[in-house]
Amino acid sequence: MKKCQYERPLIQRLNVGLMNKFGTRTEYVPFTHIDGNSIKALLAAYGSPLFVISEATIRQTLRDAQRAFRTRYPKVQFAWSYKTNYLNAVCCVFHQEGSWAEVVSGFEYQKALKNGVPGNKIIFNGPDKTVGELELAIKNSSLIHIDHLDELYMLKELCMKLELKARVAVRVNMDTGVYPIWDRFGFNYENGQAWDAINKIMLSDMMDLCGLHCHIGTFMLTPSAYAVAAYKMADLALGVRQKFNRSIQYIDMGGGFASKNTLKGSYLPGVDVSPSFDQYAEAITTAILNAGFGESELPMIVLETGRALVDEAGFLLGTVIANKRLGDGRRATVLDFGVNVLFTSFWYDHKISPAQDFSRYTEDTVIFGPLCMNIDVVRENVPLPPLNRGDHVVVHTVGAYNLTQWMQFISLRPAVVMIDMNDQLHIIRERETMSSVEKDERLPDYLTGFKL
Ligand SMILES: *Cc1c(COP(=O)(O)O)cnc(C)c1O
Repeated sequence: MKKCQYERPLIQRLNVGLMNKFGTRTEYVPFTHIDGNSIKALLAAYGSPLFVISEATIRQTLRDAQRAFRTRYPKVQFAWSYKTNYLNAVCCVFHQEGSWAEVVSGFEYQKALKNGVPGNKIIFNGPDKTVGELELAIKNSSLIHIDHLDELYMLKELCMKLELKARVAVRVNMDTGVYPIWDRFGFNYENGQAWDAINKIMLSDMMDLCGLHCHIGTFMLTPSAYAVAAYKMADLALGVRQKFNRSIQYIDMGGGFASKNTLKGSYLPGVDVSPSFDQYAEAITTAILNAGFGESELPMIVLETGRALVDEAGFLLGTVIANKRLGDGRRATVLDFGVNVLFTSFWYDHKISPAQDFSRYTEDTVIFGPLCMNIDVVRENVPLPPLNRGDHVVVHTVGAYNLTQWMQFISLRPAVVMIDMNDQLHIIRERETMSSVEKDERLPDYLTGFKL
């Protein structure tokens, strides 16, 4: 008889009930449906893994944000931050709700034009705008947000050549009491660079200074930082009025509002600590309303909110491949998606729900993706009920940045499905195929044959 192999015995504590030293149990009932569609049916129809976007959630979230600002201030305009999620279907939902486009590259600029956004409703940000892109933006009367002096001079030269006036804003960075300061983009407020850029524009007859812009950071958990920023922006606008007797049409407060995700290292979950739109709106509008603008010259407030408007609308569905015990006794569960499609797992502790019935026990679990890389960790430590091979899971709050920062690595990227306002399904991005991935590859003739 063959001798059985020795396996080290293991006593592992399963947790029952509420809070214990392993953390809070987060899951009580399985998460089985999104907007009336069952997770099981979605995965059966479109394969696993799968991204799902809820159109209803996008519209509700944007309307909530608009309400928070419009009940406090008369002139508010949202501009959709393309880099947060530039799937055309997602952008068009925002445009249908009245959002302009905010882009940070020539590629995104072209996408916004293709989506039908009028040129004069595209805000062109970013430090790398080429001469050709700037020329197009000038001709389209887009709002060009100047990042540095080299760009300012290049733009002026271009305007002189084209004999056209550019509509511009100055990007301002500043100390808002949140550190480190984001001072690599735009012109600094405290050291006078911003005022210098404003003067250079105002004293040139080739550029029309329409606005002032800042974007003070991302996932900002302190609304009061926006009050400081808004106050400094208002100060610059009032300086322009005093010196040049001209009003600034808009103050663009950028993005950076926190979504309901949980940052790694945060003790409390994001749903409990992230400020509401009302709190951000109160900070910004109060500062501008009290800054000293006359009634007729109140600037429009522009908001380029990205992640806070789309994160909750995104779900990632997947399947358990395997379970194993690590050397130290921890339970590990391997899923069929990893950091290649869930880039934000590098800084968030995403909420993960089982999609089918489970026991009342939980165990500290590390969740791995399927990539052959040590960094492919979806959650380092999460108290989850034991999952079995073939079980389905849902990752919440993945609508921001994953669908722009994902990478095609080792395997093909999954399909993306949108659930519309009537709970109907639409593929908004096909699952990748070998031919879609190899479309741009070229194999030189001399490499086409070999003998092995
Ligand atoms: C990325 C970006 C945004 C959106 O930021 P969120 O943190 O997603 O709200 C807005 N404006 C500018 C200039 C950006 O670069």
